[in-house]
Amino acid sequence: MAIETELYDVLGVPSNATGDDIKKAYRKKARNLHPDKNPNDPDAIQNFQELGAAYEILNDPNTREIYDSHGMQGLAGSGGPQSGPDMGDIFSQFFGGGLGGGPGTSFTFDFNGSGGPFRKRNKGEDTVVPYEVKLEDLYNGKTVRVNMEKEVECGVCKGSGAKGNAKSKKCVTCEGKGWKHVYSQVSTVRIATSRAPCTDCHGTGEILREKDRCKKCKGEKVVKEKTRQEVHVERGMPDGQRIVLAGAGDQEPGLPPGDVIFVLKTQRHKSFERSGSDLLATVSITLSEALLGFDRIVINHLDGRGVRVASPPSKVINSGTTIILRNEGMPTYKNPDMRGNLYIVLEVEMPGEDWMSTIDQEVLCHVFRACFVFLPMSNLLFQALGALLPPKKADIEPLPEIVDEVAFEEGTLAEFGEGDENDWQDEEEDDDEGGAPECQPQ
Ligand SMILES: [Zn+2]
Ligand SMILES: [Zn+2]
Repeated sequence: MAIETELYDVLGVPSNATGDDIKKAYRKKARNLHPDKNPNDPDAIQNFQELGAAYEILNDPNTREIYDSHGMQGLAGSGGPQSGPDMGDIFSQFFGGGLGGGPGTSFTFDFNGSGGPFRKRNKGEDTVVPYEVKLEDLYNGKTVRVNMEKEVECGVCKGSGAKGNAKSKKCVTCEGKGWKHVYSQVSTVRIATSRAPCTDCHGTGEILREKDRCKKCKGEKVVKEKTRQEVHVERGMPDGQRIVLAGAGDQEPGLPPGDVIFVLKTQRHKSFERSGSDLLATVSITLSEALLGFDRIVINHLDGRGVRVASPPSKVINSGTTIILRNEGMPTYKNPDMRGNLYIVLEVEMPGEDWMSTIDQEVLCHVFRACFVFLPMSNLLFQALGALLPPKKADIEPLPEIVDEVAFEEGTLAEFGEGDENDWQDEEEDDDEGGAPECQPQ
């Protein structure tokens, strides 16, 4: 009986798991936790290393025995009546030198439980499934159906693993103890004795003869079953959200089934970046629009709506100017009518090298003649520039079915992502800007 189960928990196996179970669990988890598969998880490397270290210890019957009887303390070589082999070396391999927070320690286990109660599993293993979602799905909400496989108690043998009324026999190899002594040479002068689980009965002490095994599950007690799970991605769910499907996981005989836990991972979006309930996007405008203003659909939103913004009259827009579109951000999880803000950084596209040569001389002459006669100087300049500069952009093609008119309001990026904490207090700051916006002629 193990006095601690932390390492088993890392692998997600019970403390009486067989060597094969441990190998299987490790391979499965190593695939899911590999840092290459979790590029955006800052803990990915640590999780992967912990898994590797836990496996190294539990896969070796010697170190597993020490861990089972003395916990991490035993492995650290700091006591235990029969700490056997000197674990210092092995330990430093896994922990980068010393236990409990030395400078080279890459991670620590919470192994405070040496005197704590023995933890026993009370349900089947949970299945954690990373699930990639589009930002559109988190904005609009989505229900997805996922095909999965889970282990259920074998219906034929009712989880006994035996055929008919066949009974397990006491394992001859270990005399029913489930373990046997193993001897290993630690150094030229030391031989370590330790217990290792019996490989014949996988540590259970009982063995079922080949001919007595249930035909359906081949004595495994469980069988695989295909299931279809519905996952409800709700509007505004944050990245990393865990969606728990209680009881949808693997079943072990005699225990209620584990849970299936989907962990949401947001895919990178080509236009939008998310921070809490705020969104950020970059929109390019032409030099003509920067000098003469614009009134067009600047962006297609995550629900397909066009968002139209008109810049204030005679406002010159610098590249990098940020505007805030209030309540155009992400919906709030559990309160989707409350939304964050959409921040748009306007980038001015300078004309290409050939723009001079593309100016239509006739149009220019026409504008100038007309202006000399009828129009005041400021309008002249406006018209002349309009004719000189690359043209303003047309609306987005194809035109979205719904187009909302949204006010042009300047903001600063310092506020981006703060909507969650400040909620609606931002409005006070707006008064500073009210009225005439600054013009920066250049
Ligand atoms: Zn069966
Ligand atoms: Zn045995």
